[in-house]
Amino acid sequence: MPRWRNADTALPATISGQPRALTDAYGRVATDLRVSLTDRCNLRCSYCMPAEGLEWLPAAEVLSDAEILRLVGIGVRMLGITTVRLTGGEPLLRKNLEALVAGLAKLHPRPSLALTTNGIGLAKRADALAAAGLNRINISLDTLDPTTFSRLARRPRLPDVLAGVAAARQAGLEPVKINTVLMRGINDHEAYDLLCWAMEENVQLRFIEQMPLDAQHAWQRSEMVTADEIRAWLSEHVRLVEDPDQVISRGSAPAELFRVAGTDYSVGIIAAVSKPFCGSCDRVRLTSDGQLRNCLFSRAESDLRTPLRAGASDDELADQWVVAVAGKRPGHGINDPSFLQPERPMSAIGG
Ligand code: SF4
Repeated sequence: MPRWRNADTALPATISGQPRALTDAYGRVATDLRVSLTDRCNLRCSYCMPAEGLEWLPAAEVLSDAEILRLVGIGVRMLGITTVRLTGGEPLLRKNLEALVAGLAKLHPRPSLALTTNGIGLAKRADALAAAGLNRINISLDTLDPTTFSRLARRPRLPDVLAGVAAARQAGLEPVKINTVLMRGINDHEAYDLLCWAMEENVQLRFIEQMPLDAQHAWQRSEMVTADEIRAWLSEHVRLVEDPDQVISRGSAPAELFRVAGTDYSVGIIAAVSKPFCGSCDRVRLTSDGQLRNCLFSRAESDLRTPLRAGASDDELADQWVVAVAGKRPGHGINDPSFLQPERPMSAIGG
């Protein structure tokens, strides 16, 4: 049994007969499903996992394409899921990803399909993924310096990532979003360089506060670069004003957008730790081994794989899903003294 499997997550098998909406006790409704396709990755980012990698899930525990299509189908048909984001690990490592995307694009009602990737190998696959039905893409990129990239990711793959960004744009996977984590003393001096590059490339840059989801459990609040710091650093070079699209409402968007004055470009800053946006969260997650997580930081999981493989009906699986989301906590609790980091690392949860 993997060490992160919680034994205290037994849920009632069904609540048949109740209306199915993925609503929690705080009135939030989950419509955005994040599906992790693998826990494996071809980088070894120091803030994510150790150099030697992790103990990967056994293949037999990983959901097949048919199992993913069935569960996501239940989500869109019976539970109001409207957006499906494919994550990992590194989702491009999943065999036949294009076929899986094509299968998801055939679901009714058709969900919006997005992918979060490190960009390695994307240059050769962006066209096929777009043709299969992928709508949007987020690419992780923390530095434009090859030496810093190699140090951070423990692989010299910056050119592959940049080629992937260009290919995604050419394939029409717009807007291409770039997810960037700044780390103190490593790449924090690159904030403005990254903004200039993103404006030049016409990609949407989003700085994200580093969260305690590393496999090594080495995250320290005192080391975290905060959203306020990032805004201040950028403001030394450009004037940032409120984004006109967010004047009325930010909705469930995690990024606070700032318009670079005098341009039509907006940069996003995601203050996931210092200014949590859990109150408007609309997400639910399915891990590659078929465990439902109602929050990125949940310490409990709801096992859909076992009943799925034991012949549970769509109704039974949908009911279990409803119960799992109903128990969602109000927030991640990182700022509470009692906070405990989930045992599963980010690479095994899916971002
Ligand atoms: S930490 Fe949990 S509740 Fe907060 S936004 Fe993320 S998934 Fe939603």
